Amino acid sequence: MKYSPLIDRHGRRINYVRLAVTDRCNLRCFYCMPEEGIQFLEKKSILTYEEMLRLLHVFKGIGVDKIRITGGEPFVRKDLIYFLKEVKKEIQPQEFAITTNATLTHLYMDDLPELFQTVNVSLDSLDAERFFKITRRDDFKKVFENIQELIRSGIQVKINAVVMNEKNIEDIISFVEWTRNENIEVRFIEEMPFNGTREKDKISDWNYVKILQHIQSKFKNITKIETPVSSTSMMYQVNGFTGKFGIIPAFSRTFCGTCNRIRITAKGELLTCLYSSSGTNLLQELRQNKSEEELEKIIRNAVLEKEKNGFEAAKKRNGFIPIYESMTTIGG
Ligand code: SF4
Repeated sequence: MKYSPLIDRHGRRINYVRLAVTDRCNLRCFYCMPEEGIQFLEKKSILTYEEMLRLLHVFKGIGVDKIRITGGEPFVRKDLIYFLKEVKKEIQPQEFAITTNATLTHLYMDDLPELFQTVNVSLDSLDAERFFKITRRDDFKKVFENIQELIRSGIQVKINAVVMNEKNIEDIISFVEWTRNENIEVRFIEEMPFNGTREKDKISDWNYVKILQHIQSKFKNITKIETPVSSTSMMYQVNGFTGKFGIIPAFSRTFCGTCNRIRITAKGELLTCLYSSSGTNLLQELRQNKSEEELEKIIRNAVLEKEKNGFEAAKKRNGFIPIYESMTTIGG
C-alpha cells in the first residue's frame, strides 16, 4: 500500500464514499420530503461532474475503493451515464454501486449491466395503492417492470424498504415471500427522521427486533447469514428460498463501530456521518483551485473529526434539534 489509508480517530479505516449527484427526485416519499418538494439547489451550487471526478481521484489516492452513487434520484441528473462511465474508466473502484428508485432505469439498460454488478432500488411497497400513498406518484407498475428488467439483465438487485407504521407493515411478509423464487435481497430499513418536517419522535417504532420477530412469526425456518465486517445489514434466508432478506437498524445505529463510510452531498459537503448536521465544504475548496495535496489534507482533517457513532453525531446538532433535513439533501 503506497498511500497511508484514511483512518478516523476511532481507528476505523474509511474506504467507502457515498456520492450524491443531485438533491432532486421525481418521487415525493412522505418520509423524505413534503409534497411540494424542497427548495432544490441551483445548478451553480452543485458539484459538476468534473469536480466530482477530481474529488474521486483524491479519494482513490487515499484508499477509497468503494463508491456508491446516490441522490435524490441519480437518474434525474442530465448526462449521468457519461459521468458513470468516466468513474468506471478513470477511478476503477473495486466496488461501484448505485441507489435508485428505478423509475427511469429502463432508459439506460444498454449501459447499466456494464457499469454495475449491484443496483439498490428504494421500494417500500409491493402494492400499487400503498406505493402511491407513500411516494405520491403513480409509478408502481413502471418501477416493478424496471426491477424485473434489471434482474433479467443479470444485475444483483437489492431492495431497500423503509418500514413505517400504518403505511407498509402489510408488505413485510410479501417482500420476504418475493425472495422465495427471486434471487434478490430485500433489506428492511428502520425509518429515520430525515424528512424536513416530522419530529424524530413521530417516526415508526418498528425497530430491527420487531421486524425480525414479525417475520419469524410467519417463517419458522430462517438462517442467519454471515456479512462483511462493515455491512449495515443483518442478513437472513428462509430455508429453501432463492433470495435473502436483511434488516438495517439505521435508527438504532447498532453498526457504527465498524463504520467505513463518508458522504459527499450534491452541494459538495463532506459529511462524516449520516446524522451529522453539517460538514466540510469541498465545493468551495475545489473552486478555489486547491491542489490534490491540499484537498487530501482537508479530507483527512475532516475524517479525524468523524463521530464515534450516529448518536454522538445527532447530539452535536445544537442540543438535539428535533427537525431533521430531508434525506434527499444528504444522499441517503
Ligand atoms: S450512523 Fe454515522 S457512524 Fe453510524 S454507521 Fe451511519 S454514518 Fe457511520
